[in-house]
Amino acid sequence: MSDTLFTRIINREIPADIIYEDEICLAFNDIHPQAPVHFLVIPKKPIPTLNDLDKDDRQIAGHLMWAAAHIAREKGFAADGYRTVMNCNDDGGQTVYHIHLHVLAGKPLGWPPYTEKLKSKG
Ligand code: AMP
Repeated sequence: MSDTLFTRIINREIPADIIYEDEICLAFNDIHPQAPVHFLVIPKKPIPTLNDLDKDDRQIAGHLMWAAAHIAREKGFAADGYRTVMNCNDDGGQTVYHIHLHVLAGKPLGWPPYTEKLKSKG
């Protein structure tokens, strides 16, 4: 399988605005921010979707959540609050098939997050 965009960012083959890195994950600002603060936390291991997370990957998934909170504290918006989202497959709105945690902050975020009318898939 060819590398995704995010593996190429990890390998520094394409540029990104990297804000945090450790041995397990990388975080960088989203190129199309949906809030004043919008960055992605990705594992260095290429896992295509949440459905592909093995039992052995549970620590990686937890690490992404920890990194999101760590960065929120470091950047000073943890107390005000933020939202984490991981989209999965088409209905979830996933477009890059390397799991990533969206972290959105910097303003009160609306809920529910979607604007489409509810419709059944019939
Ligand atoms: P998703 O739709 O959940 O798969 O999210 C993919 C996210 O990646 C979107 O919010 C895009 O704006 C973001 N994105 C795509 N290409 C880049 C890039 N080169 N650098 C940073 N973010 C990107």
